[in-house]
Order: sequence, then structure tokens, then C-alpha cells
Amino acid sequence: MPRIVDIQRRATLEEYAAVAHLAPDVQAMREEAEGLLFRLGDRTVWMVNSTEKGGGVAEMLPTMVGLLRDLGIACQWVVIDANEDGFFPLTKRIHNLIHGAGDPSLGEEERGLFERVSAWNAAWLDCRVKPGDILVVHDPQPIALPKFMETGNLVPVWRCHIGLDEENEATRSVWSFLEPYSADYRHAVFSAPEYIPDFFARDATIIHPSIDPLSHKNRALSLHKLVGVLAESALAVSPGPRLYPPYERPARRLEPDGSLQTANGREDIGLLTRPIVTQISRWDRLKGFRPLMRGFAAMKRRIFAGDGPSDPVDRRRLDIVRLVLAGPDPESIQDDPEATEVFRELKASYLDLEPVIQDDIAIVALPMESLEQNALMVNALQRASSMVVQNSLREGFGLTITEAMWKHVPILSNSRACGPRQQVRDRLDGRLIEDPEDEKALAETIATMLDEPATREAWGRSAQRRAHEEFLVFSQLRRWFQLIERLIG
Ligand code: UDP
Repeated sequence: MPRIVDIQRRATLEEYAAVAHLAPDVQAMREEAEGLLFRLGDRTVWMVNSTEKGGGVAEMLPTMVGLLRDLGIACQWVVIDANEDGFFPLTKRIHNLIHGAGDPSLGEEERGLFERVSAWNAAWLDCRVKPGDILVVHDPQPIALPKFMETGNLVPVWRCHIGLDEENEATRSVWSFLEPYSADYRHAVFSAPEYIPDFFARDATIIHPSIDPLSHKNRALSLHKLVGVLAESALAVSPGPRLYPPYERPARRLEPDGSLQTANGREDIGLLTRPIVTQISRWDRLKGFRPLMRGFAAMKRRIFAGDGPSDPVDRRRLDIVRLVLAGPDPESIQDDPEATEVFRELKASYLDLEPVIQDDIAIVALPMESLEQNALMVNALQRASSMVVQNSLREGFGLTITEAMWKHVPILSNSRACGPRQQVRDRLDGRLIEDPEDEKALAETIATMLDEPATREAWGRSAQRRAHEEFLVFSQLRRWFQLIERLIG
């Protein structure tokens, strides 16, 4: 059955307002909300999506729903369900087709299934909403609900978090499948202008995704907490006695014999002392792990061959720098065969490298059993990095970029992927190379960025400021308030 999610609150509005550098943002959001509250009257805002756990939308909704309620806006989060087995495999196909991949044939059979399940969910929702309510429908899975709802005067808005900045047979087919449902929406919201299909062009707004600055992934970590998280998760050797016991499931590192072992077992990665270049992502071919690793290896080979900066400190920096490639532990994600395959490919490339270069590359598997511990590990890793790379060949938005920018870390990414270029301004917040598969450009840019600590510091500052102004939940909610006010005004 569809269900109303009982949200797990993290921080309250008062707690955000109590953080000195967030107080002005909270205040601006409160002011914007006051105007809206008056117009909203007793309308409820309904957030509708297809999953309670996993993925960026599910991660963001508890914060958004919680803040809306603290501001006095009635808000509910509904997760749809399926009364027929084929529905979620079909919506997974639709998701992949929007990303340009998969079998493009979507016919009457698929439409029948999609609409029967949508109508069933719509009937459930009809019993709960009231005329005038605002329905924010996230992503394609529940897109057809408004078509089948009978409650009058609803204000349905489609919030699409995914997209591709090019057209192919797959995208043409899926958008023509989805087009009939657009007529029932008052408006649509996308993450980038490149993602708006023609039929929504007149009634669409861009709202970037955002992060929660007080979540476990993004909150400030005191020095002790940071070192504690790294030591407890086995990402670092503990420098001394500790208060807390190790996490039940440690981070594991790929060893030169091909096995995965507790990350600090054979030797310390060096997160607390060495310069560190990091990429954290799902094990997905499109995340560009392999070309990044090969680019880093090329840079190291040059340095080990004596072809590096003449200044001894600059030289040593490139000598001792390490690359950390982290993602979910393959044991935790056995239901994702593609990830296991990509991890295996990366492992094969790693095992082909010279031992001295293998030493300087840590492929790390982060356990996912505790999402809080996983988030803290990601947080600590990003904070321990001299620079964060997101070498995606394609990227919807790239929250890993936002997360690192918020932590004052300069970014290396590319201008080919749509998400990174929404966020990173070349030579202001980091570097955008043209081609994520250009290993030579990767090698050179990593070396140059590492060689210029003052520039990195300035780019990190600028990145943090940009993340603060553009990509925190407060500015995102303000944009929603403006939009809703326009729609009901
Ligand atoms: N992530 C995580 N643990 C991991 C790997 C990734 O929590 O082991 C998180 C990462 O911090 C980010 C999200 O997964 O919040 C990935 O979002 P992004 O937009 O970068 O890419 P997507 O996975 O949605 O393609």
C-alpha cells in the first residue's frame, strides 16, 4: 500500500538558526515563508515519491518536510507502492531511458501497467488530500497520479531530479511515453535547463538540488570527532587511546593481492598527514573511476621518473600524495550487479599497476549497514582531502561535488558532464577539464592543483561560498516558496 512516511527529524529550525553562519539563511527563509503561509491557508503540501530509503530524493525529503513543518506549513510525505509486480522494473527502465540507456520500446502493454498502478495509488491519495492542496510529485515513477485523481483544484507540480543533456532514441521514446501526463501539471521543476523536455518548456523552473548542512554527511566535525570517525571506521590508524570502540563494520581497502582487508590493516592510508586526492561515488562506469586512476598513475610515474617540480617541498607533495577512490562496499550492495562488475573492472586495472603506484592508490569499500556511520565516513574523507575529484562522464547534478564544496575543498571535474558545470566555475571553485577520459589532462591538472596550495585555498573558499549561497536547503526552499506563491496567487 502507499504510505505516509513518519519522518526521522535531524535538526530543528531553531538548531539551524543557532549556528552563527546559518542564522541569516534561516531568517531569509522564515521571511519568505511568512508571506506564503498567509496565502496557503489550510492547504497541505504533499511530497510524493517512490522510495523512503536510498537516493538523493529520499535523503533530502526528511530535511525539507521537517523544515516546512517547523515553519508552520502543513506537509506530508507519501511513498507510492505497486499492486502489480512489473511496475517497479518498468519504472527502473523509464529511469534508465531518461539517462539515455536501455530498450526504447514502450508500448501499450507498458502504458496499461503504468496507468493501472498509478490509478490505484491515486485512489488512495484521493481519500487523503483536499481541494487546493499542493502535490509535489518527484521523478517519473508517480508522474501519472494527477491524471487519475478526482479531487478538485489540486496544484500538481512535477519535480524531475534526473535528465540527460543530449537526445537519443531512448530519451525520445521515454519522453513521448511520459508526455501525456504533463497536461495534468500546473508546473514542472528541473535540476538544469538542459533537462527540460520541449513539452514542459513553457511551464518549467530550475531549482538545484541541495544539501543539509547539519546532516551527518555535512555537519562540521571537531578535530577529535574527525580523527575518531577515521580511526573507528579503520580509515586511519588511531594516533592514541580512544573513547569509542571501532565500528562493527570497518572500511576495507583493496590490497595488491586482490583481497579486501580492513583499511588500516596492512598500512595507514595517510589521511591525517599526506596530501589526498579523493573521489567518492557509486561504482558506476559513468563515474569515471578508471580514467581517473590511470591519470593519477601517469602523474606518479612522471614524478618517480624524476620529472617534477624543482622545489623540494613541491616535489615531496607529489611524491607522497595519495589517491582515494571510495564507494559502497560491494558486499553491502549485492543487489546491484552492475556495481559489482564495475568494481571488478577497477580492481583488474589496479592489479595491473606497478607496486609502487599501487601503494599510493587506496580503493576503499565503505560499509552501508549503518547509514549514519557511512555518512560520517564520507564526511571525514571529504574533509581530509586536499582536493575532491568527480570525474563523471555523465552526471545529473553530483551531490558529492556540492558536499565537498561546502567543506571548503576545491573540485576537479569536467565541463562535459552537465551537473558539474552547474556547480563548479572553472578556476574559481576548482578546475573543469574538457574530457574526463583524457588521462594526460587529468595527470597535469592534478599536479598543477596540488602544486598551488594558495590557489587551492582560494578556490576552496570560493566553492564553500557558492555552496552556501546556492546549494543549501534554505535557498532551495525559498525558491519553492516563490514558486508555490506564484502558482496559488
Ligand atoms: N555516497 C555515500 N556513500 C558512498 C558513496 C556515495 O553516501 O559510499 C553518497 C554521496 O555522498 C552522495 C550520493 O551518495 O551524497 C551520490 O550522489 P551524486 O549526486 O553524487 O550521484 P548519484 O549517485 O546520485 O549518481
